[in-house]
Amino acid sequence: MTAETHAALARHLLRNDGQEDICLATYRPSTGATRRTALVRHLVLPEPGERAVHGNASITGNYILRAAGIAQEDGCGLILAHSHPGGRGWQAMSSPDRDAETAFANLAREITGLPLVGMTLAGDHSWAARHWDRGTGRDVQETDVENVRVLGDRLTVTWNDALVPPPPSRRSQVRAVASWGERMHRDLTRRATLVVGAGSVGLDIAVRLAATGVTRIGLMDFDTVEERNLDRMIGATALDAWLRRSKVAVVGRLVVLNATASGLQLETSELSVCEPAGLAQALDYDLIFSCVDRPWARAVLNAVAYAHLIPVIDGGIGVDAFPDGDGMRGATWRSHVVRPGRPCLACNGQLDLAAVTADRAGDLEDPTYIAGLGAGGDRGENVAALSISAAATLLAQYVSLTVAPGGLGEPGPLQYLLSTHTLEHIDVATRPTCPVEAMTADGDHALSVTGRHAAAELRRATRQAAERAWALRLARAVGDLLYGLRTRLGTVVDRRLRRVGARRSAGGDDAGARGVSR
Ligand SMILES: [Zn+2]
Repeated sequence: MTAETHAALARHLLRNDGQEDICLATYRPSTGATRRTALVRHLVLPEPGERAVHGNASITGNYILRAAGIAQEDGCGLILAHSHPGGRGWQAMSSPDRDAETAFANLAREITGLPLVGMTLAGDHSWAARHWDRGTGRDVQETDVENVRVLGDRLTVTWNDALVPPPPSRRSQVRAVASWGERMHRDLTRRATLVVGAGSVGLDIAVRLAATGVTRIGLMDFDTVEERNLDRMIGATALDAWLRRSKVAVVGRLVVLNATASGLQLETSELSVCEPAGLAQALDYDLIFSCVDRPWARAVLNAVAYAHLIPVIDGGIGVDAFPDGDGMRGATWRSHVVRPGRPCLACNGQLDLAAVTADRAGDLEDPTYIAGLGAGGDRGENVAALSISAAATLLAQYVSLTVAPGGLGEPGPLQYLLSTHTLEHIDVATRPTCPVEAMTADGDHALSVTGRHAAAELRRATRQAAERAWALRLARAVGDLLYGLRTRLGTVVDRRLRRVGARRSAGGDDAGARGVSR
């Protein structure tokens, strides 16, 4: 839900007199490849006589009927939300909670065609939720959810520890934990984080997320490593280019080699987010880094941020060379979090809708067309010495959105001008008739801008064709074997370090020192 919706629910549910309260709301489904999300849409507050507060709270059948009717007309499901004012953290259901939700689950599903969602708000503003989506009649059963996310200038997540246990803390992460605390670290490292675009900026970001200890990282890119990428993709080698490795395969290896989490879940995808299956995969994540340089993919992610309430951290770098090819005029890098409450990429001038149309039509594959384009955002030339600055500004936005240093969330759009070394906060407003922001919490009903992606299909087919050559297959097998040995060795050392760490923290003496590798 948006922070605005959370505030409205909290105003109603957390009463001044400390009693429990209850209310109804509507939701739209957001369906990913493996995850289902209910996006809270509108509150349907009780009218006089529709609910009673008596220590705990109860509602009438009429209130359910009225709200389910409103939900059904809007293509929505129904949410039954109540509060535990004395509760802290994720809340289990009491037996009256269970009775109330089972009593209305069938009725709500019959009217709306979608399962009832039960939600509990604790006094510390933590949420818990479940979908009543199994069984029928008296045998209706709930499925517990993994987390509840509230999106404003920060992303606040309440975790269901029973389904997604906090990752064990590691000695290799001790500095990160010291920077923002154990509680934040356990939250941040569980957030499913997707990097779309595995070029220079995406590579740096993915590797740093892995080093931080993020346990679930996704990489999405259809492209192949080429020789011309090697001056910016730090860690990719000439061998990777010769072996026609996909960018996600190369970056995925660097992620594994740099990960500090013990159970890293790495998901790589050779789809484009512009393809329907690619978009579905993106909807499985809690937040997304947009490191793509093409307008169509950015348009898709721009819509995802509003329609599916998944924050998109976007930005880029443009190096401005003199037209005669002799010297640099300047360079600019920008970053912004795309989410409800902030202007979308089209409103803040970072997405040219005419270029999106050209990209969809395949015109951007034609170099003469690109040469004729004006500055459509900061997606020009890029060099290794500066691409790290673009990655850094996106990661700083990520830390603000996640950790909120000093209690301040993400700062809005930022722009850094290299020639004068000035950092500017860009003051942009939403266009009054922005169609993208109007799709907020539309979920699966939102207008989709996905479709067949000829360039992605061609790149994948070219890789497959290259794999038929026996010399390439043999060289790949040797490369894979060496990589396998390296990761195996890494696992052994890692296990040993963990045992030493456990002995030390158990109050062990210098016995641990014998096991430390130099
Ligand atoms: Zn907009």
